[in-house]
Amino acid sequence: MHAYFDNAATTPLDPEVLEAMLPYLSQHYGNPSSLHGPGRQVRAAIETARKTVAHLLNAAPAEISFTSGGTEADNYAAFGSIRTLGLKHAITSPLEHHAVLHPLQVLAKTGEIALSYLRHDAKGRLDLAHLEQLLASNPRSFVSLMHANNEIGNLNDLAAIGALCAGHEAIFHTDTVQTMGHYRHDVQALQNQFLVGSAHKFHGPKGVGFLYCRSGMQFGAFIHGGSQERNVRAGTENVYGIVGLAKALEIACRDMAAHQQHVQALKNRFIEKLTAEIDDVRFNGCSAAASESLYTVLSVSLPPSDISEMLLFNLDISKVAASGGSACTSGAQTGSHVLEALGCDAARPTVRFSMSKMNTLTEVDFAVAQLAKLYKPVAA
Ligand code: PLP
Repeated sequence: MHAYFDNAATTPLDPEVLEAMLPYLSQHYGNPSSLHGPGRQVRAAIETARKTVAHLLNAAPAEISFTSGGTEADNYAAFGSIRTLGLKHAITSPLEHHAVLHPLQVLAKTGEIALSYLRHDAKGRLDLAHLEQLLASNPRSFVSLMHANNEIGNLNDLAAIGALCAGHEAIFHTDTVQTMGHYRHDVQALQNQFLVGSAHKFHGPKGVGFLYCRSGMQFGAFIHGGSQERNVRAGTENVYGIVGLAKALEIACRDMAAHQQHVQALKNRFIEKLTAEIDDVRFNGCSAAASESLYTVLSVSLPPSDISEMLLFNLDISKVAASGGSACTSGAQTGSHVLEALGCDAARPTVRFSMSKMNTLTEVDFAVAQLAKLYKPVAA
């Protein structure tokens, strides 16, 4: 047996998605900017995909721009709003993905913004009273706070954050890479200006994503050299990727309830089996709390062991693919900035199991059995 539990890194392509993409890798090869029939046919496929994505988010097609993925969309939202609107202050959290943290840190380093980090508790829950204070003393801030954390799965309350931002004229961007296709996002019910998606996180292809920009927030070219994507992003479009993204999101939204139920059951089984089979197992952040965390991610903290450093490698040899790490030890360049910000013990290794609709309970049992076999805690 082989068990793939690294779906927060990337998911397998859905065969239905592949089927939708194949014609755009073979017979429909026109350049979408060409005015002839083969070009127009491909242009129509892109615009249909845009309408599909917009419809699923309750947005307008003009509010959707296709990108190379989540990282690019996060960069566009940060650089575009801060530079175009001349914003002088940004608020984020130390628990964000580097796709958000690094652009903001670059802007802080060049002196374009002052950057504030939101406080959180030991479980990674954001301190919204602190957000309110920061917004009150820095109105018109750029705020970037993710929907679900990719390492520990914590869910943030987008409605509450959006309401605070709206009350202080802030521009609110949320990185929804880990929740797109797993939860419904209705932009009419939210008060954010931006959100993002990345197809490979919901059984679509790699290298394609999108940015939702609320109407009025489009800032002109992010990549220069052509008029594609309404002059925002120059370059011939990733046509088969865009077609695959829309198909993958359509399937994810169509099957969401069943998918959620299935994956939550896998996560519950992981929690139950790990707790029964390994002493002193803990769960990082809110990972084990169903109401506070993403159902696809479980972040497991294991007691110190002689094999800590080689744990993921050994799991891989045992045919279990997962990811993880530990909090950075002082002075070390590697390790997880999220676990470090949570104050996790660097001696306790973390394994992140992330699940998808394609996993089974048998695979969960297999993964836990392999881990339990490998795991030899250091004698107290
Ligand atoms: N944001 C989050 C929360 C992610 O988990 C990831 C990918 O792991 C990204 C952004 C980057 O997305 P992409 O791989 O599409 O650039």
